[in-house]
Amino acid sequence: MSDTAAPERDVLAGRLAYLTVGLPTLGTAAAIAYAYADGLTALDLTLFAVMYLLTALGVEAGMHRYFTHRSFAAAAPVKVGLAVAGSMAAQGPIVFWVANHRLHHAYADTDRDPHSPQPRGPGLRGRLAGLWHGHLGWLFEVRKTEWNRHCRDWLSDRAVMRVNQHYFWVVLAGIVAPGLIGGLVSWTWHGVIGGILWGGFARIFALDHATWAVNSLGHTIGFREFRTRDESRNIGLLAPATVGGSWHNNHHARPSLAQTRRHWWQFDIAGRFIRILEQLGLASNVRYVDAESEPAR
Ligand SMILES: [Zn+2]
Ligand SMILES: [Zn+2]
Repeated sequence: MSDTAAPERDVLAGRLAYLTVGLPTLGTAAAIAYAYADGLTALDLTLFAVMYLLTALGVEAGMHRYFTHRSFAAAAPVKVGLAVAGSMAAQGPIVFWVANHRLHHAYADTDRDPHSPQPRGPGLRGRLAGLWHGHLGWLFEVRKTEWNRHCRDWLSDRAVMRVNQHYFWVVLAGIVAPGLIGGLVSWTWHGVIGGILWGGFARIFALDHATWAVNSLGHTIGFREFRTRDESRNIGLLAPATVGGSWHNNHHARPSLAQTRRHWWQFDIAGRFIRILEQLGLASNVRYVDAESEPAR
């Protein structure tokens, strides 16, 4: 793969990756050590699960299907809620997430794809290097992106830009809030510390790797139901952890749909969540699968 024509690297974003990848990793190690030293409570696990579900929906229904692909229209409070929940996942501010994912779809598995896991050299070494790059290596060598070109629609949205500007505070709130709730519910220091470590750091770590696995494994192993021009795959095992994002070949076949499910057994929590929003009158113009527009299988 040649990088000669590739845009310049964004050095600051590359350096920030040490923080955004490193801190949740260290925090998860601390969470495990703390569980050994002081036990793992039902409250720790509940805070982990609730925060995971909230931010996973923020990423898959929010950052991905709403902000990037605009697969439905949302009422103002839902838009802000999705922006906040998605930002709490600490996968980058909205503009960064949207621009990189739109680039991914435009150039999937070519040199201009921000995170293609295709081999970066001969043999097993090249394959592993490609997988690493597609999973999280790309964050350290992220390229300069013209926000104006790839995310113009949101740059003029005040409410969304406000969340975007306060990204780091939103991430911090997502770490502190489960600590506060843990403390208030249990009235113990374990509640506070366990809430921060499990509901904050370990939750970010787990969701990050689940999301990144769609970029790395989801373009390497799994099943291809549709003959798309990229290497996208469906990985059923990852469907619960990615709240439906891992039906990635289905998604690449028709990225504008609010659903990734094509069969009743394909678990798509984010798609179900969007349907519930619609039934509550909080989402409209939801794009559903229609048999006549389906591409070749
Ligand atoms: Zn993809
Ligand atoms: Zn997409």
